Amino acid sequence: MPGLTSRRSSSSRLQASPVTMANEPDSVNPSHALFDRFVQAQTCKETQQNFIELCRHLKVEPRDYKHFYSKLKDRLNYWKAKDLWQKIDKRAAHPDYEQGQACHQNKCLVLGAGPCGLRTAIELALLGTQVVVLDKRVSFMRNNVLHLWPYTIRDLLNLGAKKFYGRFCSGSIHHISIRQLQLILLKLALILGVEVHTGVTFEGLLEPAGSTGWRAQVSPGSHTAAAFEFDVFISAGGGRYVPDGFKIKELRGKLAIGITANFVNRRTKQEAQVQEISGVARIYNQKFFQELHSEIGVDLENIVYYKDDTHYFVMTAKKGSLLKKGVIKQDFPDVNQLLAPANVNQEALQEYAYDAANFSTDHMLPDLEFAKNHVGRPDVAVFDFTCMHRAENASLVKERKGKRLLVALVGDSLVEPFWPLGTGIARGFLAAFDTAWMVRNWGKGVLPLELLAERESMYQLLSQTTPENTSKNYASYSIDPSTRYPNVSLSCIKPTQVKRLYDTEDCKAKKQMKPIIIIKPKKESLRRLEDLLSWCQKSTAGYKHVKVKDLSESWRSGMALCALIHNFRPELIDLSSLDEYNITGTNKLAFDLMEREFGITPVMRASEMTTCGKIDQLSMVVYLTQIRNALTEKETPAECSNSLSLNNKTLSLSRTRSAAFFLNTLKRNSLQRRKDRLASEKGPRQQKMKEKEEDKDVKEEKVSGSDPETIDQWIDLVQEKNSLLSEESDLMVASRQLELEDKQSMLEMELRRYMEMDDSEKTPEQREHENRVLQEMLDVVDMRDSLVAFLEEKRLKEVNDELLRNSVLEAKKHSTAASQVLWD
Ligand code: FAD
Repeated sequence: MPGLTSRRSSSSRLQASPVTMANEPDSVNPSHALFDRFVQAQTCKETQQNFIELCRHLKVEPRDYKHFYSKLKDRLNYWKAKDLWQKIDKRAAHPDYEQGQACHQNKCLVLGAGPCGLRTAIELALLGTQVVVLDKRVSFMRNNVLHLWPYTIRDLLNLGAKKFYGRFCSGSIHHISIRQLQLILLKLALILGVEVHTGVTFEGLLEPAGSTGWRAQVSPGSHTAAAFEFDVFISAGGGRYVPDGFKIKELRGKLAIGITANFVNRRTKQEAQVQEISGVARIYNQKFFQELHSEIGVDLENIVYYKDDTHYFVMTAKKGSLLKKGVIKQDFPDVNQLLAPANVNQEALQEYAYDAANFSTDHMLPDLEFAKNHVGRPDVAVFDFTCMHRAENASLVKERKGKRLLVALVGDSLVEPFWPLGTGIARGFLAAFDTAWMVRNWGKGVLPLELLAERESMYQLLSQTTPENTSKNYASYSIDPSTRYPNVSLSCIKPTQVKRLYDTEDCKAKKQMKPIIIIKPKKESLRRLEDLLSWCQKSTAGYKHVKVKDLSESWRSGMALCALIHNFRPELIDLSSLDEYNITGTNKLAFDLMEREFGITPVMRASEMTTCGKIDQLSMVVYLTQIRNALTEKETPAECSNSLSLNNKTLSLSRTRSAAFFLNTLKRNSLQRRKDRLASEKGPRQQKMKEKEEDKDVKEEKVSGSDPETIDQWIDLVQEKNSLLSEESDLMVASRQLELEDKQSMLEMELRRYMEMDDSEKTPEQREHENRVLQEMLDVVDMRDSLVAFLEEKRLKEVNDELLRNSVLEAKKHSTAASQVLWD
């Protein structure tokens, strides 16, 4: 932070300040009492008020952000504050911040005072940036409890979290309520000179005009934040907030209904003795879940219980039991309708959550009473985790009238977490650090495309991060990615691949001037399309209300997709139940089936098939190609599932056929790739032949007769498509990794329990179970390894593809002859 070092030496001068009375008892010295009140404040409002009073009393101006912290430190010579100053000074002295000079000319607006927005704001303040944070809410009211990875605990302890919240991480499981975490971070941010405005809604960005730079449109419009000009905008608006220019990808899983409930924690001895549940999934404790179901009719997939400010429970409930218990009034195939407030009976929901909490804690929590939520009602809520969102990219640069703006996403708006797995804060803070690193480079004048390429390279890692594959040396964690991600490659995405993220007036104008491209794939491509079309026509011939004439509009009603599925797997679909006019419903059915049975992600949302003006042929071709491959696989999914059995024991994790099919496909592809690689490594001759084969295979489609610009655009399009597909498969892998990670930690816990027992005490059943758990754990480790190998191979392949693409472009430059392009 600017001024940090210079101020340290002037402390003696400031001890003489009239507002500093270091030797007086705490209760007498008003600045000490104010500081204590600020540190202990339990609401956002109280924190802000005490902070203002403290500043007023010490005569320090918070807007003097460059010198604020050092002035505050110098004027508050109070032993209770000194510990905190020491911690902050230690952090601020890290070389990454360059004594607060790294970004001293930058100004940043942060949207959202959630944990991730505030954590980013703190890092930017340490870099010397002027930071303004806006939040539309005026209070921090979320009781729900967040799981913390070990590095986040160390990070918060190093920042003095215990000074603000003495109970921080004192339980057996590491967690903190959202509101407490926000309070800690808000206090730190204020101390570091960050301006935080609550009750202010961000409405959009205002482009530079005249001599004015980038600003925000806010509500109320008269707020001072409206005049703030900035060159960095961090969007940390949480959940489904998507700022202009970013695209969000939807990861649809099987129906997952989450319930959270908070009960009053009176902190009695009896409550203290109740064991927390770090996460039990149905497959690991079938007996418990069966009893829960048979005894009280509550049917769950998993449950977590943390004892924090409240007794907090999060569980995934099965739809059937929610319907039976009257929590959900009416069944709907669409999850939004299913969980719409009007379709949820709040009283029945309370009863359901109460029963689950009571049963899972063995009725040991006395007088369970719901804590109150932000509107004073019992704090119980139901959430949909069927669709998870993730931004396609983490950053972009806009340039207007010669003024550049760096825009970045952090927290839930970048990657939405699945709460029962508790990845939100861990990955949220990693992204906050990565973003701070990018802003540091921005401050240093790194060119936009290089900066974006590096950020996007880091972003590729985020969904795969686990406590196991990130560095264990928590003490050395900094905003520098190499301290956190072992073997990170910051250049796996090249500047040329992120051109679309650099939005300038020039490229806007260029886009407008470009003629509409008529893509004319030549013979080979045409033949492939004709093959696909004719396969679709043959496979759907004779089905009612189906007439496949093309690879776009003929698929709108969803009837053709259902016919395709029925032709190959009649048992999956009841055609008589279909309504050709219910476009959304029919498409949803087909999309869901394809995803569940074959792991093929839909091309778009079912509702978009009704609303979109034109169906994107390229997407449809990719989707139908995957369907054809899956439906004409020689091995049926059932066989795949069997082949995954190890030692005649089916892997319980891959209980659903789609998971088994997916993992099996991964393994098969992986083996095939290994074989290919081995073959190609036999010698330069074979290598050359393979390259030629590949060239021919590539995968040889000539766009002759097209002008170079059309070819360029065509290549750009295909590249973009490929990168989207690649991200899609990354998401699939990431979600499987999460499952495996979750399972491994459960198994480890179970094993540890057995290890703590003396062998002679174990019954034969327990010994047998212990062996089973051990074997299962080995299987999980195997599967995790195979996913890692798959990702590694995928990355290698992407590098090869990139090389191939570059050579195609090179060849085009040197010859006006036809260019080679990738079709898929
Ligand atoms: P958030 O914490 O969601 O903060 C975003 C902030 O942006 C909010 O304060 C919001 O008011 C503000 N904002 C949004 N739009 C605007 C705008 N236009 N103008 C100004 N301000 C704006 N995770 C778990 O692990 N377990 C749980 O049980 C759990 N429960 C949750 C319950 C709720 C209701 C929510 C919303 C989230 C929950 N989460 C839970 C997720 C968890 O809170 C986040 O992972 C974590 O808080 C980090 O999020 P964030 O900072 O990215 O966003």
